[in-house]
Amino acid sequence: MPVINLKGHVALVTGSSSGLGSAVALKIGLAGATVAVHYRKEKSEADDLVARIIAAGGKAMAFGADVSNRSEVENLFASIDRELGSVDILVNNAGIDGIRALCGDDNPDNWEKVIAVNLVGPYYCSREAVKRMRKNHKGVILNITSVHEFIPWTGYTAYASAKAGLSMFTKTLAQETADDGIRVLSVAPGAIKTPINKSVWGNPDTLADLNRKIAMEKMGSPDDIANAVSFLVSDLAGYITGTTLVVDGGMLLYPDFKHGG
Ligand code: NAD
Repeated sequence: MPVINLKGHVALVTGSSSGLGSAVALKIGLAGATVAVHYRKEKSEADDLVARIIAAGGKAMAFGADVSNRSEVENLFASIDRELGSVDILVNNAGIDGIRALCGDDNPDNWEKVIAVNLVGPYYCSREAVKRMRKNHKGVILNITSVHEFIPWTGYTAYASAKAGLSMFTKTLAQETADDGIRVLSVAPGAIKTPINKSVWGNPDTLADLNRKIAMEKMGSPDDIANAVSFLVSDLAGYITGTTLVVDGGMLLYPDFKHGG
């Protein structure tokens, strides 16, 4: 039975001081990769995660940067080169929902911010990663998109546009880098219990409404995403590139049709 073994790899997981990124960084670290735990502001959470990975026998270090700032991203990769070695697994996870507002009533600064963090940030990070991966003729870039790369979401045009854009970035970059030994993938989570959506799962009425939108009628856990990511970045997925794995408990299955049309 093959097991996931990431020994010898250096992985950067953006936004891993919290939520999905934290679970992904831990799982990848336990599978043997050296992990760059990345945070924006939450240094103490990142340090705690580093300590957990080291206590379990792994290797990790925390690095801070704003992924929407190009020079901070360039410095982030240069620091990882110096401290841990060249990144050959990049998980573009950092992201924000933005402020719910209808187009026309919204503030364009907020719209641009969501695009900057959720789409331009992964581009900046991928650009730095590809330069290194090309030299070594190996690497995996995994973008965390969302079911909103497929499902429209009223009040969140920036979020849905960024995630759909990130999906096409995945496919195009996969095509562009296949000859360089690089695989590029997306994981599209459905509703996963993290701080980003606490306002929904923290209230029984909104949680019940959300569960009705999921065929399995329950939210996922960060571990559900970490399991999928660990597989996709490993050699077990060596022939998979340029596609999205949806991890959503059946949210995309039109659950309203469960009880007839
Ligand atoms: P979260 O709020 O717990 O984590 C988001 C992380 O991104 C945090 O670590 C934060 O510091 C980081 N971040 C935000 N802005 C940043 C910036 N400018 N520079 C660097 N880092 C920044 O949320 P989460 O649920 O863990 O979300 C992680 C990813 O998963 C996001 O891309 C989100 O869109 C996606 N996602 C989440 C869900 C869900 O249900 N939780 C569903 C679909 C997609």
